[in-house]
Amino acid sequence: MTVLDHQFIDNQWLVSSSDRRLTVINPFTESVLAEVTAGHPEDVNIAVAAARRALTDWQALSGTERGSHLDRFAEALSHRRNELIRLSSTNNGKVLDEAGIDLDDAIACYRYYAGQARELDSRQGTAIPLDMEGAEARCYHDPVGVVGLITPWNFPLVTSAWKVAPALAAGCTVVLKPSEVTPLPERALAEIVLEVGLPAGVLNVLFGDGQGIGAPLAAHPDIDKISFTGSNRVGEAVMHAAAERTAGVSLELGGKSPIIVMEDADTEQAADWVMAGIYFNAGQICSATSRLLVHESAAESLYAALAQRIDTLTLGDPLAGEADMGPMTSARQRETVQRYLALAQEEGLVAVRDASHRMLPEQGYFVAPTLYRDVPTTSRLWREEIFGPVLCGRSISDEAEAIALANDSDFGLAATVISGDPKRAQRIARQLRAGSVWYNSEQLVLPQTAWGGFKRSGIGRELGPWGLAAFLEVKHVVGPIGN
Ligand code: NAD
Repeated sequence: MTVLDHQFIDNQWLVSSSDRRLTVINPFTESVLAEVTAGHPEDVNIAVAAARRALTDWQALSGTERGSHLDRFAEALSHRRNELIRLSSTNNGKVLDEAGIDLDDAIACYRYYAGQARELDSRQGTAIPLDMEGAEARCYHDPVGVVGLITPWNFPLVTSAWKVAPALAAGCTVVLKPSEVTPLPERALAEIVLEVGLPAGVLNVLFGDGQGIGAPLAAHPDIDKISFTGSNRVGEAVMHAAAERTAGVSLELGGKSPIIVMEDADTEQAADWVMAGIYFNAGQICSATSRLLVHESAAESLYAALAQRIDTLTLGDPLAGEADMGPMTSARQRETVQRYLALAQEEGLVAVRDASHRMLPEQGYFVAPTLYRDVPTTSRLWREEIFGPVLCGRSISDEAEAIALANDSDFGLAATVISGDPKRAQRIARQLRAGSVWYNSEQLVLPQTAWGGFKRSGIGRELGPWGLAAFLEVKHVVGPIGN
């Protein structure tokens, strides 16, 4: 069993000031994988001080130089590809293929921001056209400073890549806090820092929970910005803490995203996209399209196609290479989902498929892939993020109703529109209040396109140039021409 009682600070492994330990569980075998420190506010103090010391030299490098570091980072992740995929699968419970998609996504992100760092050089000192004669203004992009990055457990290595890569590209120095549920994949980042020779203090990794590390990091007076991905409850606490000292925040929070299937869609193709939108990663996806809005004339054939696909989904050992779906990542998350399933029974929801339709593996935190139809919009299952393999469907009679129901949510992270007429699909997409909308497609997440939510799904954007901008301050230098 691994014991992780050290923190990675200033390119050294320092013993944590905490003697409180947490267990890291393999969600398939239900056995203990590791013991990890819960962390201590003093660990945060030491790491933030190291990041502050490293800032001057790191931000003084050109974007091109920082980009080279990021390229080496991507290269090191590629070298460890197989090991990291297995580690991610073991700690998180996701099947190997999905862990592979995650890792490739993370590698692509480091590469993309290596390019963005180089490109940043060409944007420094750009002259701004002015109306005033005799004056000139130039625009620069300075790093925000020392940033705290806090990530969840559902996509380890990906959610951190989306923050670490742009932060380093921008010239910020970093204190990263991975989730205490899945700390093992992110530990590799610390090892890679040493492997690729990133300067000391530029990327520090602190292990622990919200109490030991998360809250003290969010409240730390010397952190210039917090970028957080996780639940709304914690995101709001982070925002409160940052507000105490007017520090910046970026928040990537929950979702309850719709998938619209119009009457002119190819039902079989639509069924594949609906399945991928909710059962990937056992439904533990912030952008899960967990509300299905299907045209009444296509409803019966779509539900039949979905039932047939759900029945052929295999649940099992994520490492064996045969399962389509692994367990929930934690016993706690399984309980959360099970509470919603109990509520569905109380509410008398109509199940197309639920736990009564299948045998679950004997071990592991499994939940059956579940589909309810004709779910009232007042149901908590329709309105709240469940974060599990639970799909709720409703029929719609026209485009306007589809759009109104899709937008009737506190959240606005993502959406999918499926129609035989791509122009119609795009027209509907334009009217949805969500940060990412796919049409006639699976959920394509690309480093060039932004990620983030409308409404309660968050504040700010990751990925693309917007993800870099989140770690930059805009500065104008203005004065008389020729002086
Ligand atoms: P969580 O909010 O419980 O935890 C997220 C992180 O915050 C963890 O590292 C945790 O240790 C830390 N934390 C806990 N208490 C804290 C505190 N008081 N102050 C600071 N940090 C604290 O979320 P989770 O259960 O790990 O992840 C699931 C949630 O994440 C879902 O709601 C999901 O939608 C969301 N999510 C969103 C996105 C997105 O891009 N919008 C992506 C992935 C996950």
